Parts: sequence; C-alpha cells; structure tokens
Amino acid sequence: MKNPKYVYLFEEADGSNKKLLGGKGAGLAEMTRMGLPVPPGFIVTTEACLRYYENKKKLPKGLMDEVKTNLKKVEEKTGKIFGNTHNPLFFSVRSGAALSMPGMMDTILNLGLNNETIEGLIQITSDGRFAFDAYRRFIQLFGKIALGVDEQEFDQILNRAKEKAGAVDDTDLDADRLKDVCKQYLALIKKKTGSSFPKDPMVQLELAIEAVFRSWMGKRAVDYRKEFKITPEMANGTAVNICTMVFGNMGFDSATGVAFTRDPGTGENVFYGEYLVNAQGEDVVAGIRTPKPIQEMKKEMPKIYRELERVRKLLEEHFREVQDLEFTVEKGNLYILQTRNGKMNAQAIVQTSKEMVAEKLISKEKAILRLKPQELEQLLHKRIDPNFKGKPIASGLPASPGAASGKAVFDADEAERLGKIGQKVILVREETKPEDIHGFFAAQGILTSRGGKTSHAAVVARGMGKPCVSGCEALHIDPKAREASIGNVHIKEGDFVTIDGSRGEVFQGEVPTVDPEISDHLLTLLKWADEIRTMGVRANADTPEDATKARQLGAEGIGLCRTERMFNAVDRLPVVREMILAGSKEKRAEAIGKLLPLQKADLKKIFKAMEGLPVTVRLLDPPLHEFLPSAEELASELRNLKEVETALSSIENISEAMKFLDPEFRESLKLLDHMVSDIVEIREKRLDKKLIRKQQETLRKVKEMMEVNPMLGHRGVRLGITYPEIYRMQIQAVLEAAAELMKEGVEIQPEIMVPQVCTAQELKWVYQLVKKVQKEVETEYKIQIPFKFGTMIEVVRACMRAGRLAEGADFFSFGTNDLTQATFSFSREDAENKFLPLYNERKILQDNPFDVLDVKGVGRLMMITIEWGRKTKPDLKIGICGEHGGHPDSVEFCHGIGISYVSCSVFRLPIARLAAAHAKLKEKDKKPAEGYDPDAHYSVFF
Ligand code: PEP
Ligand code: MG
Repeated sequence: MKNPKYVYLFEEADGSNKKLLGGKGAGLAEMTRMGLPVPPGFIVTTEACLRYYENKKKLPKGLMDEVKTNLKKVEEKTGKIFGNTHNPLFFSVRSGAALSMPGMMDTILNLGLNNETIEGLIQITSDGRFAFDAYRRFIQLFGKIALGVDEQEFDQILNRAKEKAGAVDDTDLDADRLKDVCKQYLALIKKKTGSSFPKDPMVQLELAIEAVFRSWMGKRAVDYRKEFKITPEMANGTAVNICTMVFGNMGFDSATGVAFTRDPGTGENVFYGEYLVNAQGEDVVAGIRTPKPIQEMKKEMPKIYRELERVRKLLEEHFREVQDLEFTVEKGNLYILQTRNGKMNAQAIVQTSKEMVAEKLISKEKAILRLKPQELEQLLHKRIDPNFKGKPIASGLPASPGAASGKAVFDADEAERLGKIGQKVILVREETKPEDIHGFFAAQGILTSRGGKTSHAAVVARGMGKPCVSGCEALHIDPKAREASIGNVHIKEGDFVTIDGSRGEVFQGEVPTVDPEISDHLLTLLKWADEIRTMGVRANADTPEDATKARQLGAEGIGLCRTERMFNAVDRLPVVREMILAGSKEKRAEAIGKLLPLQKADLKKIFKAMEGLPVTVRLLDPPLHEFLPSAEELASELRNLKEVETALSSIENISEAMKFLDPEFRESLKLLDHMVSDIVEIREKRLDKKLIRKQQETLRKVKEMMEVNPMLGHRGVRLGITYPEIYRMQIQAVLEAAAELMKEGVEIQPEIMVPQVCTAQELKWVYQLVKKVQKEVETEYKIQIPFKFGTMIEVVRACMRAGRLAEGADFFSFGTNDLTQATFSFSREDAENKFLPLYNERKILQDNPFDVLDVKGVGRLMMITIEWGRKTKPDLKIGICGEHGGHPDSVEFCHGIGISYVSCSVFRLPIARLAAAHAKLKEKDKKPAEGYDPDAHYSVFF
C-alpha cells in the first residue's frame, strides 16, 4: 500500500483541514496563502503521529525522506542551507493538535545549531552573544524535551553563571560566559545520557519530531484532554510544524510578542498584546521578563505597529473570529509565526459576539455558538463585596476576572492534594509552567509574582474561567520555606488569601464576595438564544424572592416549587412539628389550620411574581423526619433536662440549709434566696417534670417514625395517602390562592404535581382528592379555577407504567435526582462523598451521574417513558426538574429526546437558555433519521 502524504509545505496545505494539519499548521497554511509574512516551512501531519503510535513509537517509513524533500524546498526559498557552516538554516519545531492545547505539548527552537553552524550564525549576525544565547536555549530545550534531561540542572548551571558574573538578567551575560554555559550544558547531557549531544542537524530534526509526537501522550496533555473532554474524534494526535527560525533577539531592531485582535479579558475592540525588544518568544510566554503593552510599539517601532494593525484587520476578516497571534521582528522585518482563535473569558466572548454581529462579521447563530454554556458559568462568578472596606495588601495585573479566596499553597502537588479533600486553595507561584496544570484544576484562583497578562498563568486561568492575578511584584515567595511576604505581611502555607482577578488585587484573609450582575451584552445574546431555542426553560423556585429572580433571568415558568421549603422558616418549623407529632386527628387539624394561610400567602406571592406563567407546585415530598430533630439530639437534650432537674432539686434544699446560717451571712445571700423561691415555684408547678415528659414523648414518636432508608420510605405520595389532611391542605392552598388572585384580576397558571408516584392508582387517589377540594373551593369562591394536574417521574416503575400514568396526567416531570438514585441504586445522600469520586478516578464511571445525566441508563428510561406516555397522550407536556435540568450536556440530551422544557436552579437559567439554543443549532448538523442514540453518547465503555 502506498504511504499517504505525511508532509506539506505551508503553501500547499489545505488550511481548512485542522484535523490533518493541527490548528497551528492550518493557521500557518492559511496565512501563507493570504500572503502574510510567514517564514517558510512545512507540516508533518497528525496522521504521521497516529502511525507513530500504531508502529510502537517508530516514525512511519518514508517520513524522513519526505521531510528531506520539503526541507530542500525551504532551503531554496530562504537561500540558506540546513547544517551549513557559512549560511545555516535553523528551524523551530512546534507541536499543534486539531484543538488548541496551549503549552500542553512540546516545542523546540533554534534547531540545527551545533558547534559548527554556530560559527555561521556568528558571522551572519556579527553577534557572538546572540548566537551563544540561541545555542544555549536550544541545548536546554532539546536536552529537556528530546533527551529527557531534568530542566532544573540546566537552570542551576545558568544561575551559577549569573551569580559568578553578578548578572541579574540573562541578557547581562556576555558571549564568553554564554559559550561557557553551552559547554557545561553539553557536558551535562553527556553525563546524564551517556552519549554526546547529536551534532547532525538531520538527527536533531528526527529526534525533535519524535519528541513532539511523544508529548501528545505526556501527562500534561492527557490531563488537559481529560479535563476539557477533548475526545479522539475532536483531536487525534499532534502535527509537527517545522518553520524557519526568525530571531527576535538580534538587537534593538528586533522584538517578539503576542497579541489578540481584541482584548481577551474584556472583549473591547482594541488591539491587545505585549512585546519585548531583543527577546525570544519564550521570554514573553514564560513571564521571565515583564513585557510592554503593544500600544508602546506605536512610538518605539511605528512601521511595524502599522503593519501589525493591517495584519490584525486581515486576520479577523479572514477567520471571522478574534485571533491570537505570535509575531517576531527580526532586524526590522515582521514575521507572523502563529494565529489561532483567541481563547477568551466569557465576558469577552459575550462582548465580541455582540459587536461582531453588529460589524456583520458573524451571524447571530454563530454568536450564540461562540459562547459555550459551560463558559457562561464564569459570568456567574463572584466579585468582592463593594461594601467591603478592607484594603488590598498588593496589586498585580488583572489577568483573569472573578474573586476567589483560599488557603495559599506554593506548589501544584499540594494544591491538588488539598483540592482533592475539598479544601479551597489559591496557587501562589513566582510564575507557572505547563507542568503545574493539575494545580490549576484544583485551585480556586492563581496568584503569580511575575509575568504579564499573556503569561502561562494568565492564559490558562482565563481558559478555565478561574480568577488570576499575575505579575504581583511586591510578592516575595520562598517556595522551600513554604511562605511568602508582601511588605511586612507574612503568608504561611495554609493562610487564607483572596484575589480579585478583575482588578488585580490581593487581600489578606477571606474577603466577602457578591454574585455578579448580568451585562446588557449578555442579555442581548440570551434574547437571541431565546429566539432560536424551541425547548422551554423554567426555574426551580420555592419562595417569592426566588420567583422574582427567576423571571428576571428569563424563566418561562416555575417547573418545580418544593412546597416543603416554605415550611423551613424558623417561625413555621414548630407548627410543622406540631402537625407531624400530633397525637390525634383534631390536634393535627389544628396545626394544619395554622399552616394553610401561610402556604396560601406564599403561593399567592409566587403566582403573582410569575404573572400568568405556569407554576408547578409539588405536594409534600420529603420524609417527615427531615422536619424533626434527630433521636440523638433529643436524647442528649433529655439528659440535660434530667441534670437540670437534679440540680433544681438540690438548690431547693439550700433554702432549708440557709436557715442555719449566721444572719449576717444570710443577708449577703439574699439574691440566692430569691432564686430559690422561684425554683420552688417551678418545682411546685412540676414544670421541669412536664418538660421532661414532653421531650420523652417527642423522642418516642421520633423513634417510632425512624426509618432505615428514609429516602426509599415514607415520603412523597405515600405520605399524602397516609396523611391525607396534609395534601388536602396544600391542594386547598393552591386553589384558594388561585381563586383569590383570579378575583383580583391576576393571570395565573397553577399546576399541581405529585411526587414519587409509582402506580396509576396513587395518582388517581390524589386526583380524586384534588377534585373534591376543587369543588369546595369553587363553590366557596364562586369561580372556576383552571389548573393542570401531573406527576413526577422519579421511580423506575413510573417509567415502565408511563402509558397508564399519562391517562391521568396533563404533564410529566422527570425528577432525575431520584430517578438516578433509583436507576443506579446509589443513595443520593451517600454516593457522592463515598465511592463516586473513586469511580470517576478509576474510570468506572465517566461522570458523577447526579451531576451529569447518565444518558445511557437514566436517559434510556426517559426515552421509553416519553415514547409510551405520548402514545397515550400525543401532546403530553414533559419536563425535567432534577439538577440535570441546568447542566449543558443534559440540556442538549433533553432537547434531543423531545422534552418540552427543562427546569433548573435559578442561577443556572442563563446556562440552560443558552444550552437549549445550542442544542437547536447543533440539531441542524444531525440527519433527522438518526434520532437520539444514547449509546453513541460519549465513550462506549461507560
Ligand atoms: C428529583 O428527584 O429530581 C427532584 C427534583 O426532587 P427532589 O430533589 O426534591 O427529590
Ligand atoms: Mg425527587
């Protein structure tokens, strides 16, 4: 079989094929075709990477021949020769997968240098210092990446050289000292690897290609793909981009920089970037020197700045997306080394989306798709409470917005360890490197003392939506001692710090924060999302305040009002307890009588807040013991009471004893005398005994009601049937609230929902009760009350009997919290902090099913339920009100299986609205006949 073509010159590659060329390669190819100044080069495809892994980590046959052929063409174009002493050509060798994984894989610069070619470089540049600096960087990178020598050993050599020379920056080392560093580096490599550094540039190139391929399966890259759910279909293997080196460190007419076509932190339409004169790319990204804002280039290098502005415009018009570009200026000539879609935080995506639609660069649909629902969560991030009057202890750069508090930790491993046991941490570092990625995942926020807004820490934190303050230079860190200081403030590991990534401020301790407000730009985008989506979005709201907030956030109704939440107020709980513990029907009726007006008043406020939108009121669901103190608590109180009783009886005797005291002494104990007489009164009325009896009685009842598995016990409709007076009161509250509002002219759409139903008979029983109460209320108020009656689907049997249940219901609502519990037989109370984390870690389960809907099990049950329910009643309205209703993937699934609306927590409403629009837009890519196959979802192994 003929080998596929593995290598493409930039000008011959098809820039739309990111899958084959990787994102970086595709960008280089496109820019070359657009006529932008890209240094000549070629791309080794991702297919070659896949073959490399299939071949047990051997480069595919013929690959290096293809490399050589293309290399010749680059030599012709540049007029330089690879490995030549007088006119040498050097390459950068960079990774690049289909999906951007910034800094997660390896790159080698200045490839082609050796003890001979360096002479050529010195001749061309007449700058020995520059040449040896390039050489030492190359040996270090190559040694680390291709030969596996520990980077720190190189750093030690360099630091020793700096110390010896009394140098602060690398730039302070002269050619001779750098030459000596190179010598020491080469000796180190020989010592560590047992062989000399490869001199032959072709060998260097081959080893570098292999090293880049290897980095595809490196820990950093694998962790990154896992975290961001980059599947093999999305990015399979990395390409290798081999590009002619241009040098930004060839003097003061040279520079290197990175720029975004718009501000990636705010979205503002301004050219945004940083550059360093006389430096190489890694200096900017690693944050070793703090770069200057790009605007300063207007003065310092005006011609280049104008050219960059032109490139900025061309790139946006071509890619119709904000671009993140890397450039180098070599002796007054501008080169673009990379372009890719800019990673921005949610705020910037929102603003640029809105503005790019106005500029006719993109459509509304594209604008919606640019904002991932998960990223929207960032906008729901906290900020420092404006009423907080404390002063920051230091300032740095506002590198990624949001406020976060946590324990200061000084290395990524410790951040990961503490994060795993549920502690909040702030990762505090001088600068971060890609190997710190696991620390980022675990941390609430990142604080660095060095580096700009495009430093590694800033870029990664922004991508993750985590707050970051970078370049906080007042911060002095001693990672060995595990402490830091800012002026006279000492921060030990474990001390709380707060960072405000929107302002770039650092505070000592835990500072109060407030929830964010939603910007006008976001409101516009959400309005567009509403126009696109076809699935409804409702809120789970239990109080009038929640209902008001839900409306503001665009809820089209309340999909779940948990009535029991109204019982939890301090003044109501005693009445609820009275109702539960009542010894007789009369006593229970008395307590229920007190609850009715409270429940009715709340419901009226909720109905009013929703102004005619549907409100699904769920009848009482949780096991009653949730309203009662625990048996342990009661027993302990009882013990205390008994001790008080014993103490009281002893004090009572004091009175007798006092008679025998000296009269003068007795006089001074008058107070005690009064107290004793009060106590005698308590004892005479037997108040202490009564209290004890009451407590004993409560304890007895609580013990009687105790269940081994309360979540599977006496709850939901089972309660309603055994204590009909409770459901009766609730139904009456709903209908009377409705009747009174109708009389006031308020539009309402009440829906009564029964929880935990497993048979049609249960539903029928409650329906009869509803009809009875309806008749009474309608007679009393002389008005007809329209309402809907439905059931939750949260028991497996309910799914299996969906056809019958639909006969007696106007709507179904999936309670996927309980349905997940029931489907897995995992207790929702216990699983999440017992074995589920381990299940996820060991890949026994892909996600926490209480968080992300298990489409293959629970989802399958939902599909069957929908099919059977709608067979009975084709227009049956079907919603979901479990927590999954606000999870983007689950929302997409719900849209796919024909759910009428999702109902989610109020703060997740914007996410659900956006996710529903995404689901609708993505549906266009699916063939209608495909339907929704849960088995096709995620990996087949789970
Ligand atoms: C559910 O089970 O999904 C549900 C919404 O009800 P609750 O969480 O109140 O049991
Ligand atoms: Mg439930």
